[in-house]
Amino acid sequence: MSNHETQHITARRKFLTLMAQSVGFSALGGMVWSGYIAEAKATPLILRPPAAVGEMDFLRLCIKCGQCVEACPYDTLSLAKPGDNKPLGTPFFTPRNIPCYMCTDIPCVPVCPTGALEKSRVSRVIEGVNELDITKARMGLAVVDVESCIAFWGIQCDACYRACPVMDSAIVLEYRRNERTGKHAYLVPIVNSTMCTGCGLCEHACVTEKAAIHVLPLEIAKGAIGGHYIKGWDTSDEKRLETQSSDVTTRTKRSEKSAQDYLNADEEVFK
Ligand code: SF4
Ligand code: SF4
Repeated sequence: MSNHETQHITARRKFLTLMAQSVGFSALGGMVWSGYIAEAKATPLILRPPAAVGEMDFLRLCIKCGQCVEACPYDTLSLAKPGDNKPLGTPFFTPRNIPCYMCTDIPCVPVCPTGALEKSRVSRVIEGVNELDITKARMGLAVVDVESCIAFWGIQCDACYRACPVMDSAIVLEYRRNERTGKHAYLVPIVNSTMCTGCGLCEHACVTEKAAIHVLPLEIAKGAIGGHYIKGWDTSDEKRLETQSSDVTTRTKRSEKSAQDYLNADEEVFK
């Protein structure tokens, strides 16, 4: 890319960022307060830049300055404008359009003046020296829809696997026998939640009409087991028993009945 083109793109991005900021601020002036609150509480399906602190703290800390947006060389980040159904003026990205390319120098993070993007979340100490490490980013978690992923149909496709910058770690291809044909194999993508950075390069690369793999915010994508389920085959997991109360009661309509009652009950208790 020539210098002239680079300058042109930078100027264009600055202009768009300023527009988004001013649209956000002027909308705040004109919009009724309840409308603003609705947008502020809007969908939790929002992906933040790398190293963002937890969502509640992020909303408190981010001053909507757009410096992270401007610093991104790929135009990955945008500031939310009215109609985006996201907290106004805050930075986000949509991986199907432009994923995070996981820059090793992570230019979007150090420019944040408030700590909404926190460098320590994408750093590690190597031989006493603090170094940036984008693989520590946890922007979200990639989730595969096995019904629309064609690899689960038995068609050879490894687009997401190849696009992944943490290949063979965040996404692995798992071999499975195709019982339907009896002579073919499936090679299906499996996401490792402890390694996935949520960059969305997989979602961007997916070949299906609507991506069969998509990045969700961690708190949406992940379940919570609850303390009373223990992996009996994992001795380290049993340590969790030490901190759990033995007073576990399932409070449902059915649990109010004795076993005899519920065997003789009508279908009401199962509703
Ligand atoms: S790591 Fe790079 S590509 Fe990703 S949001 Fe930051 S600047 Fe943009
Ligand atoms: S640089 Fe920090 S404060 Fe400014 S918009 Fe980005 S996250 Fe918010």
